[in-house]
Amino acid sequence: MTTDLTRLSAAELAELLATREISSVELTRAHLDRTAAVDGVVHSYLHVDTDGALAQARAVDERRAAGAELGPLAGVPIAVKDVMATKGLPTTCGSRILEGWVPPYDATLVRKLREAGLPILGKTNMDEFAMGSSTEHSAYGPSHNPWDLDRIPGGSGGGSSSAVASFQTPLAIGTDTGGSIRQPAAVTGTVGAKPTYGGVSRYGLVALASSLDQAGPCTRTVLDAALLHSVIGGHDPLDSTSIDAPVPPVVGAARRADVSGMTIGVVRQLGGEGYQAGVRARFDESVQLLVDGGAKVVEVDCPSFDFALATYYLILPSEASSNLAKFDAMRYGMRVLPVGVDDPSAEQVMAATRDAGFGDEVKRRIILGTYALSSGYYEAYYGQAQKVRRLIADDFTRAFEVADVLVSPTAPTTAFRIGEKLDDPLAMYLNDIATIPANLAGVPGMSLPSGLADEDGLPTGIQILAPATKDERLYAVGSALERALLERWGGPLLDRAPDLTAPPASKEA
Ligand code: GLN
Repeated sequence: MTTDLTRLSAAELAELLATREISSVELTRAHLDRTAAVDGVVHSYLHVDTDGALAQARAVDERRAAGAELGPLAGVPIAVKDVMATKGLPTTCGSRILEGWVPPYDATLVRKLREAGLPILGKTNMDEFAMGSSTEHSAYGPSHNPWDLDRIPGGSGGGSSSAVASFQTPLAIGTDTGGSIRQPAAVTGTVGAKPTYGGVSRYGLVALASSLDQAGPCTRTVLDAALLHSVIGGHDPLDSTSIDAPVPPVVGAARRADVSGMTIGVVRQLGGEGYQAGVRARFDESVQLLVDGGAKVVEVDCPSFDFALATYYLILPSEASSNLAKFDAMRYGMRVLPVGVDDPSAEQVMAATRDAGFGDEVKRRIILGTYALSSGYYEAYYGQAQKVRRLIADDFTRAFEVADVLVSPTAPTTAFRIGEKLDDPLAMYLNDIATIPANLAGVPGMSLPSGLADEDGLPTGIQILAPATKDERLYAVGSALERALLERWGGPLLDRAPDLTAPPASKEA
């Protein structure tokens, strides 16, 4: 075999599997080998399931040999963020408090992956309970950006983004509460899509903030994201917020890749000052490519977006403080007995366990959330935030009256250095300034690579936003832009990333 299977897209691999030029076992093994070669330096995975993945690959190969009708991605391996419950596989959410917990059930999304014949390679690293923008809040150590190992791969889903960007898997699952699919995609030169809220079941997704959380695809191409979206999407009676409608026609839109006649809205509030020059330059060029492709561009005003970050950091901690109350030392994972107490009460065990089991960022948000929800402050903080949330949704509604999709840079900067923002929570929170409005309004969003910044040679991302349930527009615009950019670059951006298996530079000696 001359081609390196790990460099191909999921769509290309699915084709080779369908025509039986390769087997899923061969393909899965190639990715496990790649992980063995590079994950020592990237640290994308918290758990690699070699035996399980190969068993699933063998099973799908047998079904194919028997002539069974298989789904479009059958046999293509995938990595899953460690926030999704996986039956028989550890699920830690990047936290000590869940160390050793093995769920007795699969999340709906995971069940769909298994039924569609996608071997699960393992569980990817993440900021603890998905709180963060860098994976530095993982209790198990950070993941590294394949473009520069001293830099962050984004967060909270930096394990998934770095696994995709370092060719350890063609596909991964992320979750996006305030940007954790899109921002990691932007800083690693990959594609990330957050479906409409309710478009993919949250059953078995360990909740951070239930009104914001949404799982979705992490891939290297827009078409791959569409194929994965259509596998995991759709109604689920086990999730009361799941949309009872068919998955939007995302695959067809990705294949058509057409923007002619569409109106693209550039959001005035998401750009300009505070955004790195190289991020802005690549964004402007991308917008021009959309115009060249036949789209019309307008500027749209969304004044309430200026309050999105503040609103999010009241609503998210409030919901998180409530969701995390279930980690009480009785039900899941770790139990710590308080030292020097003979006959500890349940409350004392709970306190000792939560003190030892949760990291600083999680504690910070629990304190913020319980404060914002407490009597006397509820109306002043949580109640106000809910009202501003409505204003943000109204801004989207007005903007979508004049534009089919909205665009902005995904993140204000390229990947920062590991350690750079760890002691400054506000600086960390600012990474999501452009992605958070979509979660507050429940609308779908996608990030795809727009190029490399001139200052530092690191990937930049462009974000596309669409009205709720119109996810197909993300894919139409995203794949049209991707096509134009590939032509400009003369090949995939990730071809320019460093070779991680090359011998270490001499400075290490
Ligand atoms: N970085 C944001 C936060 O820390 C978003 C996290 C997410 O989307 N899970 O809350």
